[in-house]
Amino acid sequence: MKREIFVGSVGIGGNYPVSIQSMTAVPTRDVTATLNQVEALKNEECDIVRVSVPDRESLPAFAKILTKSPLPVVADIHFDAYLALRAIEAGARGIRINPGNIGSKKKLKEILNLANQANIPIRIGVNSGSIEKKYRREKGSKAEIMVKSVMDNVRFFEDNDFFNIKISLKSSNVRETVTAYRLIDKACDYPLHLGITEAGTFFSGTVKSAVGLGSLLLDGIGNTIRVSLTEEPAAEVRVAREILKATGHRVRGIEIISCPTCARTTIDLISIVKEVEKKLSGVKTDKRIVIAIMGCEVNGPGEAGEADIGIAFSKSSGFIFKKGERVEKIAPRDAVPRLIESIKDLL
Ligand code: SF4
Repeated sequence: MKREIFVGSVGIGGNYPVSIQSMTAVPTRDVTATLNQVEALKNEECDIVRVSVPDRESLPAFAKILTKSPLPVVADIHFDAYLALRAIEAGARGIRINPGNIGSKKKLKEILNLANQANIPIRIGVNSGSIEKKYRREKGSKAEIMVKSVMDNVRFFEDNDFFNIKISLKSSNVRETVTAYRLIDKACDYPLHLGITEAGTFFSGTVKSAVGLGSLLLDGIGNTIRVSLTEEPAAEVRVAREILKATGHRVRGIEIISCPTCARTTIDLISIVKEVEKKLSGVKTDKRIVIAIMGCEVNGPGEAGEADIGIAFSKSSGFIFKKGERVEKIAPRDAVPRLIESIKDLL
């Protein structure tokens, strides 16, 4: 089991559930736009938000964001130790640095001391594209070199009495990322932040993230995740949630299963599923509710036998079923409103 750390009130590691993170994607200097994105992330059930502090001019805005954010904020810092120190003083609930690009060891020590005083964690984030020069001639795979680089940093942190650590090892190559996380998982007991960096557009990035993060999560590796997409941040959280649901890490919420359609399908199932998904998109529940939407009554109820509630169609009718048992026959045009009504009864 991994050690426990806290980003604000969110526990990471130990027995805490795998949390979801995302990052704002508007200039930090624009406080209103940043807070609007944070609010949207919160509405999607994001747990932690990361905000870049790219320059000194962003510091006053960052401090304002901290006072108003409904989610714990982690400061993302590169190149300038001064920014890390001021972000900690402003009240950041965690910081993310790449120790290789933050300046001298002396400066790094100052950050560790201040973070220790503030009792906030630091994520050591090493990306395959930004491994320190001194490791570039090392023998071994990229994944092994990334792990070596992180472990050297971990030892430096520990030698300076800093143990409030979280680790990420990201690459845009899925296999490399998975290999690196498997190695680091064995090498230390600090909680792991999973991500596939620069994963790409919504479609390809979702597939890469699902394969990479999904493989690790199914192995029980990973304590907090961030899906990186070239998309608005709220979309990242929706994808992260689905990955957690699919890997059994998040059991609450609504899950829609639907058939791929085939020659037996007599209705426009694709539109029906999209309509139901849209109507339920803002619905929150602490229960796990599985909804099945199936194209025919030959295989539908059976294939979706585990669903709490479902609907299957014949040429002329819709059939509502619960746990595989047919409970009602209705006209296809009434199917969606009836299904939504029945789902709301289950909440
Ligand atoms: S549930 Fe029916 S319509 Fe859907 S794929 Fe299976 S057989 Fe085809």
